[in-house]
Amino acid sequence: MKNKDIIEKMTLEDKIALCSGENFWESKEMKEYNIPSFFMCDGPHGLRKQDLKEATDMLGINDSIPSTCFPTAVTTACSWDTKLIKDIGDAISKEALENKVGLVLGPGVNIKRDPLCGRNFEYFSEDPYLAGKLSSKFIIGLEQNGIASSIKHFAFNNQEYSRFNSDSVMDERTMREIYLTPFEIAIKEGKPSTVMCAYNKINGVHCSDSKMLLTDILREEWGFDGLVVTDWGAMNDRIEGFRAGCDLSMPGGSSYLEKEVAEAIDNGHLSEDYVDASADRVIELGDRAKKNLKDDFVFDRDIHHSIAVGAAEKSAVLLKNDNILPLKKEQKVAVIGHMAKYPRYQGSGSSHVNPTRISIPLEAMPNSIYASGCDEKGDTTKDLLLKAKETAQKADIAVVFVGLPDRYESEGFDRDNINMPEGHLKIIEAVAKANENTIVVLFSGSVVDCSWEDKVKSILYMGLPGQGVGKAVANLLYGHSNPSGKLAESWPLTYSDCPTSKHYLNRKNAQYREGIYVGYRYYDKANIKVRWPFGYGLSYTSFEYSDLKIKDNIVSLTVKNVGKMSGSEVVQLYISPPKGGLHRTLKELKGFNKVYIEPGESKNIEFALNERSFAIWDNGWTVEKGTYTIMVGPSSVDLPLKTTTHIEGGEINVPTWQKDSWYENVNGKPTKEEWESMLGRKYEEEAIPKKGSFTMDNSCIEMMDQSLIMKLMFKATETFISKGFGWKKDYSNPEFRMMIASSAGSPLRNLQISSGIKGQLFNGLLDMANGHFFRGIVKIIKN
Ligand code: BGC
Repeated sequence: MKNKDIIEKMTLEDKIALCSGENFWESKEMKEYNIPSFFMCDGPHGLRKQDLKEATDMLGINDSIPSTCFPTAVTTACSWDTKLIKDIGDAISKEALENKVGLVLGPGVNIKRDPLCGRNFEYFSEDPYLAGKLSSKFIIGLEQNGIASSIKHFAFNNQEYSRFNSDSVMDERTMREIYLTPFEIAIKEGKPSTVMCAYNKINGVHCSDSKMLLTDILREEWGFDGLVVTDWGAMNDRIEGFRAGCDLSMPGGSSYLEKEVAEAIDNGHLSEDYVDASADRVIELGDRAKKNLKDDFVFDRDIHHSIAVGAAEKSAVLLKNDNILPLKKEQKVAVIGHMAKYPRYQGSGSSHVNPTRISIPLEAMPNSIYASGCDEKGDTTKDLLLKAKETAQKADIAVVFVGLPDRYESEGFDRDNINMPEGHLKIIEAVAKANENTIVVLFSGSVVDCSWEDKVKSILYMGLPGQGVGKAVANLLYGHSNPSGKLAESWPLTYSDCPTSKHYLNRKNAQYREGIYVGYRYYDKANIKVRWPFGYGLSYTSFEYSDLKIKDNIVSLTVKNVGKMSGSEVVQLYISPPKGGLHRTLKELKGFNKVYIEPGESKNIEFALNERSFAIWDNGWTVEKGTYTIMVGPSSVDLPLKTTTHIEGGEINVPTWQKDSWYENVNGKPTKEEWESMLGRKYEEEAIPKKGSFTMDNSCIEMMDQSLIMKLMFKATETFISKGFGWKKDYSNPEFRMMIASSAGSPLRNLQISSGIKGQLFNGLLDMANGHFFRGIVKIIKN
C-alpha cells in the first residue's frame, strides 16, 4: 500500500503519535497500518547500540554491545582522506546491518568555533569546506549499504554550556558562510536520509521550531527530501515543530504536547497536512529499514579492526621532528606515561563505544622499558617522576605518552582552559631533562597548550585514535607507516589568542561576535602567530610543488616525492579574494586532494573550481568582480604555487558600518558594540528568568535560587546521581558533571521527553516553581 493510502486510513491521534518514538531508541510500530519501526543509535565513530531491556541513556554511560571503535572525527579529519572516511562509514553501516539498526546518528559536522567546546572531538574542523566534504563521504559510505545516516546537530551548536536552551546569535553572512556551509555541502553531496535538529535556538527561535532552518533553507533551498529528527529531547513547541518541518521527536514515550497538536488541528490553528507530511517521512524510513535489514549479516571483526588501525595511521599528525623519527630497530626505547598502557582513544558522551578490542601502545612496542610517570587522572608523585627519569636515562630514546585524560573534555560541558594535567607537564619536563632524545605522543580531542614544545625533539599527535591506537602508534614511530595527517584546526600559542576568548566561556547565549573570522580566517587576517597552523603536518619524506596552471575552471599542478620514503601528501588549494569591497578573509580553503606518491615519482593533480569557490554571502551567494589569487601548497601558511585569475562578477555594496570597524581591520577582539553594528540591531542579554514567569524551557538549575521545590529537586538529583559515584558529589568527574548538566541543567520540557513520562508531572512542578503550589500539587497527583 502507498504511504498516502496508509495515511488516509490513520486516525489523527495515530498520525501524531507516529511522529514521536516508541521508546528511547525505536520509532513506533503500528501493526494495524502495517507500519514497521526502526532502531536508531549513535554514532559517529562506531555503533553504540544499547539493549532496550537494560538501562538506556543518551550520555554513553550505560553499556552497549561491542562494536569497532574507529577514530573520532577530530582524528579522521586530520587524514583529509575522503576514501578513508567513506570506508569508515561503510564499515559502521555493516555493523548496523548486523545489529538491525536502521538509522545511525552521525556524522557531527558542527564547526569548531572555540577550542574549549567540550564536544569538539566529535566534529571535523574549523573550516566549513573541509568539514562538509569529509562528512559527505562518511554519509555516502553509511548509506550505500541501505543504512540511514543523520547529519547533526543542525545547526549553530558550538558550545556545550547550556546546550539545551542556549541561543546562538549571529548575522546572516556568518550563518551562511561558516556554520551552514558544512551542512549544505554534506546534504547536497552526501544526501543523508535524515537531519538531526539541534537543542539550541538560532536568533531566539529553537531549531526544532525554525521554519527558516528546517523548511526554507533545508528543504526548499538545498532540496533535502528526508526526515528531520530532533536531538534527544530537543523538541520545543510540537505545534511549531510540525509547521517548521520537524518530523520525529525523540526519544519517545512521553506523548509530549500531542494532545495540544490534535486540538490545534481541530480548531484550525494547524493544518493536518503538516502532520501527514511528517508521518509520511516516518513511514518511509521504517519501510526502508525493514527492506534493508531483512537478511542476516555478520561483519568481519578483524577487517574492521584493521580499518581502525589504518585510519589512526593515516590521520596522525607529525607536529615536530628534529631528525629523530622514525625510530631504528636497534635503539633502546623507554616508554613513559600511564597513557601508553591506558591510551585515551575516544571521547565521553553519546558517542562512547564499547570496543571489540584495544591495541595497547606499550604492548605494540614489546622491546621497550616502561614507567607510568603518573596515575589515571594525570597526577604524579616524586616517586613516579623519579622512576620515569631513571627509566628514560637507561634508553637511547624516551617516548612520552601524554594528553587529556577523560575528565578534561566531554559532551555536556566545556573545558575551562586548554591546559594538560600538571602531572603530564612534569613528566615531559623530567624525562626531557633525563634524555635529550625525547618524543611526545599526544592524545586529545582538541587543542592543548604545548608551550613545552621546545623541550622535546618530536611530537606525534594522535587525537582520539580509536581501538587501533597501539599498533598505529608503533607503526608510525618505527616508520612502517609514514605520517600524512594535517591539522584540521589551528593550534594557537595560548587560549587568549583565540578570537572568541573574551566572549565564549560560560555564557548561556552565544554571541558570535567574531563573525566569519573563525580559526585560520582570524589568525591570518589578524596576523597572529599560531603554534601550528591549519593544514600543517610533517612527513618522513618531502614533496616538491611545480607547474601551476589554470585553464578555464581547472587548476593543475605537479607534486613530486623528492625524499626517500613513499608517502601521502595533502595538496591544499586556497583562494585569496580581491582587496577592497566587502570585508573578507585573506584566504579560504577551496580544494584538497590526498595523493600517495613513491620516492622519485611525480603526480599531476587537478582541481575543478566553480562559482561557489569565489562566492560570498550578500543576501544570496554572489561573486564579486576582481582578481583572485589561487594558491596551492602543503599547509595554509606554506603555499609555494600562486597564480591569479580575473573573474567578471558583480559589484557588492559595502555597508556603512564597515569602515575602520573590527571586521575590516581584525585588530584586538571584537566588542559588543562593533558586533551590534554588523548585526544591525542592539543585542539584549536574555533576562534572568524570574519566579512567576518560569517556563518549561527553564532548568532546575536556572530556577533553584528562587524556588524551594527546584532547590529540593536539585539536591535530590545530585544525591541520586552521586549514588553511582560512591555517594561522592564529584564535579571533577566528567560523567558526574555531564549527568548533572543533562538532568538538573535540562529544561523541564526536555526532562519530560527524555524521561518518557506522560502527563502533567513537569507542568505541575513548573506551577510550584512559579509559586502556585496547590495548582501544581493537583496536577502532580492527577498525573
Ligand atoms: C546528543 C546526540 C545523540 C543523542 C542520542 C544527545 O544528547 O546530543 O548527538 O545522538 O543524544 O544519544
